[in-house]
Amino acid sequence: MIDAHIHLDDERFDEDRAELIRQAKTAGIKQFITPAVAVDGFAKLKKLSVKYPSITPSYGLHPYFIEQHKEDDIEYLDLWFSANQSCAVGECGLDFFLKDLDKSKQQYYFAAQIELAKKHQLPLILHARGAVDAVFNSLKNADYFNAMIHSYNGSIEQTKQLLDKGMKFSFGGAICNPKAHKLHKLVKYCPLDCIMFETDAPDQNLYPDYKLRNEPVNLVRIVDFYARLTNQGFEWVKSQSSITCLDFFNYKKN
Ligand SMILES: [Zn+2]
Repeated sequence: MIDAHIHLDDERFDEDRAELIRQAKTAGIKQFITPAVAVDGFAKLKKLSVKYPSITPSYGLHPYFIEQHKEDDIEYLDLWFSANQSCAVGECGLDFFLKDLDKSKQQYYFAAQIELAKKHQLPLILHARGAVDAVFNSLKNADYFNAMIHSYNGSIEQTKQLLDKGMKFSFGGAICNPKAHKLHKLVKYCPLDCIMFETDAPDQNLYPDYKLRNEPVNLVRIVDFYARLTNQGFEWVKSQSSITCLDFFNYKKN
Protein backbone atom coordinates (compact mmCIF):
# COMPACT_ATOMS: atom_id res chain seq x y z
CA MET A 1 0.00 0.00 0.00
CA ILE A 2 1.02 3.56 -0.64
CA ASP A 3 -0.19 6.55 1.33
CA ALA A 4 -0.93 9.09 -1.42
CA HIS A 5 -0.83 12.09 0.91
CA ILE A 6 0.73 12.33 4.33
CA HIS A 7 2.69 15.07 6.09
CA LEU A 8 5.29 12.81 7.66
CA ASP A 9 7.67 15.78 7.94
CA ASP A 10 5.27 17.52 10.34
CA GLU A 11 6.80 18.38 13.71
CA ARG A 12 4.01 16.46 15.44
CA PHE A 13 5.88 13.35 14.24
CA ASP A 14 9.33 14.45 15.40
CA GLU A 15 9.20 12.40 18.60
CA ASP A 16 8.16 9.03 17.22
CA ARG A 17 8.49 9.12 13.41
CA ALA A 18 10.73 6.04 13.17
CA GLU A 19 8.36 3.97 15.29
CA LEU A 20 5.29 5.06 13.31
CA ILE A 21 6.97 4.20 10.01
CA ARG A 22 7.97 0.80 11.37
CA GLN A 23 4.40 0.19 12.54
CA ALA A 24 2.94 1.21 9.16
CA LYS A 25 5.40 -0.98 7.29
CA THR A 26 4.42 -3.97 9.40
CA ALA A 27 0.82 -3.26 8.40
CA GLY A 28 1.79 -3.32 4.70
CA ILE A 29 2.26 0.38 3.92
CA LYS A 30 5.42 0.68 1.87
CA GLN A 31 5.60 4.28 0.66
CA PHE A 32 4.47 7.68 1.87
CA ILE A 33 3.92 10.51 -0.62
CA THR A 34 4.96 13.46 1.53
CA PRO A 35 4.36 16.95 0.13
CA ALA A 36 6.11 19.99 1.56
CA VAL A 37 4.01 23.11 2.03
CA ALA A 38 6.48 26.01 2.13
CA VAL A 39 10.11 26.69 1.20
CA ASP A 40 11.31 26.69 4.80
CA GLY A 41 10.37 23.01 5.10
CA PHE A 42 12.15 21.75 1.97
CA ALA A 43 15.50 20.96 3.61
CA LYS A 44 13.91 19.01 6.45
CA LEU A 45 11.78 16.95 4.07
CA LYS A 46 14.75 16.21 1.84
CA LYS A 47 16.79 15.07 4.82
CA LEU A 48 13.97 12.83 6.04
CA SER A 49 13.58 11.27 2.61
CA VAL A 50 17.26 10.33 2.68
CA LYS A 51 17.01 8.89 6.17
CA TYR A 52 13.76 7.02 5.41
CA PRO A 53 13.64 5.80 1.80
CA SER A 54 9.92 5.07 2.21
CA ILE A 55 9.29 8.83 2.32
CA THR A 56 8.75 10.03 -1.24
CA PRO A 57 9.04 13.82 -1.27
CA SER A 58 7.19 16.41 -3.30
CA TYR A 59 7.78 20.14 -3.06
CA GLY A 60 5.37 23.03 -3.38
CA LEU A 61 3.77 26.14 -1.92
CA HIS A 62 0.50 25.42 -0.11
CA PRO A 63 -2.27 28.05 -0.33
CA TYR A 64 -2.84 27.83 3.42
CA PHE A 65 0.54 29.53 3.94
CA ILE A 66 -0.04 32.16 1.28
CA GLU A 67 1.14 35.05 3.48
CA GLN A 68 4.44 33.28 3.99
CA HIS A 69 5.28 32.75 0.30
CA LYS A 70 7.47 35.30 -1.45
CA GLU A 71 7.81 36.16 -5.12
CA ASP A 72 11.32 34.64 -5.09
CA ASP A 73 9.95 31.30 -3.92
CA ILE A 74 8.77 30.46 -7.42
CA GLU A 75 12.27 30.78 -8.81
CA TYR A 76 13.66 28.89 -5.83
CA LEU A 77 11.16 26.10 -6.49
CA ASP A 78 12.14 26.02 -10.15
CA LEU A 79 15.82 25.59 -9.23
CA TRP A 80 14.91 23.06 -6.56
CA PHE A 81 13.18 20.83 -9.13
CA SER A 82 16.27 20.97 -11.33
CA ALA A 83 18.52 19.88 -8.48
CA ASN A 84 16.34 17.51 -6.44
CA GLN A 85 14.18 14.46 -6.93
CA SER A 86 10.49 15.28 -6.52
CA CYS A 87 7.58 12.98 -7.37
CA ALA A 88 5.26 15.93 -8.07
CA VAL A 89 4.69 19.65 -7.71
CA GLY A 90 2.74 20.37 -4.53
CA GLU A 91 1.06 20.56 -2.30
CA CYS A 92 -0.42 23.51 -4.13
CA GLY A 93 -3.86 24.70 -5.15
CA LEU A 94 -6.59 26.92 -3.77
CA ASP A 95 -8.40 27.25 -0.46
CA PHE A 96 -11.55 29.35 -0.64
CA PHE A 97 -12.96 27.80 2.51
CA LEU A 98 -10.81 29.91 4.82
CA LYS A 99 -12.03 33.43 4.13
CA ASP A 100 -8.94 35.39 5.15
CA LEU A 101 -6.65 33.85 2.52
CA ASP A 102 -6.13 36.32 -0.36
CA LYS A 103 -7.76 34.69 -3.40
CA SER A 104 -5.89 36.48 -6.17
CA LYS A 105 -2.55 35.89 -4.47
CA GLN A 106 -3.43 32.20 -4.18
CA GLN A 107 -4.30 32.07 -7.86
CA TYR A 108 -1.03 33.72 -8.78
CA TYR A 109 1.10 31.17 -6.91
CA PHE A 110 -1.03 28.28 -8.13
CA ALA A 111 -0.77 29.31 -11.79
CA ALA A 112 3.01 29.68 -11.44
CA GLN A 113 3.28 26.18 -9.98
CA ILE A 114 1.18 24.68 -12.79
CA GLU A 115 3.73 26.18 -15.19
CA LEU A 116 6.56 24.58 -13.19
CA ALA A 117 4.82 21.21 -13.35
CA LYS A 118 4.62 21.59 -17.11
CA LYS A 119 8.23 22.65 -17.39
CA HIS A 120 9.61 19.84 -15.22
CA GLN A 121 7.08 17.27 -16.49
CA LEU A 122 5.73 16.48 -13.06
CA PRO A 123 2.21 15.73 -11.88
CA LEU A 124 0.42 18.09 -9.50
CA ILE A 125 -0.70 17.35 -5.94
CA LEU A 126 -3.69 19.60 -5.38
CA HIS A 127 -5.49 21.06 -2.43
CA ALA A 128 -8.95 22.28 -3.50
CA ARG A 129 -10.96 23.17 -0.42
CA GLY A 130 -14.16 24.96 -1.37
CA ALA A 131 -12.49 25.60 -4.72
CA VAL A 132 -12.89 22.64 -7.06
CA ASP A 133 -14.28 24.82 -9.89
CA ALA A 134 -11.57 27.46 -9.45
CA VAL A 135 -8.82 24.83 -9.39
CA PHE A 136 -10.24 23.28 -12.55
CA ASN A 137 -10.35 26.72 -14.22
CA SER A 138 -6.67 27.32 -13.44
CA LEU A 139 -5.81 23.92 -14.94
CA LYS A 140 -7.90 24.72 -18.01
CA ASN A 141 -6.11 28.07 -18.42
CA ALA A 142 -2.81 26.19 -18.51
CA ASP A 143 -4.24 23.24 -20.43
CA TYR A 144 -2.54 20.87 -17.98
CA PHE A 145 -4.45 18.12 -16.22
CA ASN A 146 -1.78 15.74 -14.97
CA ALA A 147 -3.10 16.20 -11.45
CA MET A 148 -4.66 14.59 -8.42
CA ILE A 149 -6.88 16.33 -5.88
CA HIS A 150 -6.30 15.10 -2.36
CA SER A 151 -9.10 14.75 0.20
CA TYR A 152 -11.41 15.16 -2.73
CA ASN A 153 -15.00 16.18 -2.14
CA GLY A 154 -16.52 17.61 -5.32
CA SER A 155 -19.98 17.20 -6.80
CA ILE A 156 -20.78 14.39 -9.24
CA GLU A 157 -21.12 17.01 -11.99
CA GLN A 158 -17.64 18.43 -11.32
CA THR A 159 -16.20 14.94 -11.01
CA LYS A 160 -17.48 13.97 -14.46
CA GLN A 161 -15.56 16.86 -16.01
CA LEU A 162 -12.35 16.15 -14.09
CA LEU A 163 -12.50 12.43 -14.93
CA ASP A 164 -12.90 13.37 -18.58
CA LYS A 165 -9.53 15.10 -18.36
CA GLY A 166 -7.97 12.04 -16.76
CA MET A 167 -7.56 13.53 -13.32
CA LYS A 168 -7.16 11.42 -10.19
CA PHE A 169 -8.51 11.72 -6.66
CA SER A 170 -7.46 10.59 -3.25
CA PHE A 171 -9.76 9.86 -0.35
CA GLY A 172 -8.94 9.79 3.33
CA GLY A 173 -10.44 9.27 6.77
CA ALA A 174 -13.56 11.32 5.98
CA ILE A 175 -14.98 8.31 4.10
CA CYS A 176 -14.95 6.29 7.34
CA ASN A 177 -17.73 8.42 8.79
CA PRO A 178 -20.85 6.22 8.47
CA LYS A 179 -22.99 9.36 8.08
CA ALA A 180 -20.99 10.83 5.17
CA HIS A 181 -23.63 9.77 2.64
CA LYS A 182 -22.85 12.38 -0.01
CA LEU A 183 -19.15 11.51 0.09
CA HIS A 184 -19.95 7.80 -0.11
CA LYS A 185 -22.01 8.43 -3.23
CA LEU A 186 -19.06 10.26 -4.76
CA VAL A 187 -16.56 7.57 -3.78
CA LYS A 188 -18.78 4.90 -5.37
CA TYR A 189 -19.13 7.02 -8.49
CA CYS A 190 -15.36 7.28 -9.07
CA PRO A 191 -13.85 4.31 -10.92
CA LEU A 192 -11.27 2.47 -8.83
CA ASP A 193 -8.52 3.11 -11.38
CA CYS A 194 -8.82 6.87 -10.70
CA ILE A 195 -8.59 6.52 -6.92
CA MET A 196 -5.79 6.62 -4.37
CA PHE A 197 -5.95 6.56 -0.60
CA GLU A 198 -4.38 8.86 1.95
CA THR A 199 -4.30 9.59 5.64
CA ASP A 200 -3.29 13.29 5.46
CA ALA A 201 -1.76 12.52 8.87
CA PRO A 202 -1.22 14.12 11.33
CA ASP A 203 -4.45 15.90 10.32
CA GLN A 204 -7.92 14.52 9.51
CA ASN A 205 -8.09 11.72 12.02
CA LEU A 206 -10.78 9.11 11.47
CA TYR A 207 -14.35 9.26 12.74
CA PRO A 208 -15.13 9.67 15.60
CA ASP A 209 -11.76 10.62 17.10
CA TYR A 210 -11.29 13.89 15.22
CA LYS A 211 -9.29 15.52 18.00
CA LEU A 212 -6.54 12.90 18.12
CA ARG A 213 -3.43 12.91 15.98
CA ASN A 214 -3.93 10.89 12.81
CA GLU A 215 -1.27 8.21 12.26
CA PRO A 216 0.21 6.49 9.18
CA VAL A 217 -1.10 3.03 10.09
CA ASN A 218 -4.70 4.29 9.74
CA LEU A 219 -4.41 3.94 5.97
CA VAL A 220 -5.33 0.28 6.43
CA ARG A 221 -8.67 1.24 8.02
CA ILE A 222 -9.42 3.69 5.20
CA VAL A 223 -8.73 1.16 2.44
CA ASP A 224 -10.69 -1.49 4.35
CA PHE A 225 -13.66 0.86 4.77
CA TYR A 226 -13.62 1.65 1.05
CA ALA A 227 -13.43 -2.05 0.12
CA ARG A 228 -16.46 -2.86 2.26
CA LEU A 229 -18.40 0.22 1.07
CA THR A 230 -17.96 -0.77 -2.56
CA ASN A 231 -18.17 -4.55 -2.08
CA GLN A 232 -14.70 -5.19 -3.41
CA GLY A 233 -11.97 -7.33 -1.92
CA PHE A 234 -9.43 -5.60 0.31
CA GLU A 235 -6.48 -7.18 -1.53
CA TRP A 236 -7.86 -6.15 -4.91
CA VAL A 237 -8.39 -2.53 -3.83
CA LYS A 238 -4.95 -2.48 -2.25
CA SER A 239 -3.20 -3.64 -5.39
CA GLN A 240 -5.22 -1.49 -7.81
CA SER A 241 -4.78 1.73 -5.85
CA SER A 242 -1.05 1.03 -5.52
CA ILE A 243 -0.76 0.64 -9.28
CA THR A 244 -2.58 3.96 -9.77
CA CYS A 245 -0.19 5.64 -7.34
CA LEU A 246 2.96 4.15 -8.88
CA ASP A 247 1.79 5.16 -12.31
CA PHE A 248 0.74 8.67 -11.39
CA PHE A 249 3.83 9.53 -9.38
CA ASN A 250 6.05 7.95 -11.98
CA TYR A 251 8.01 5.76 -9.63
CA LYS A 252 11.38 4.63 -10.86
CA LYS A 253 11.78 2.33 -7.88
CA ASN A 254 9.04 0.28 -6.24
ZN1 LIG B 1 -1.93 18.10 2.77
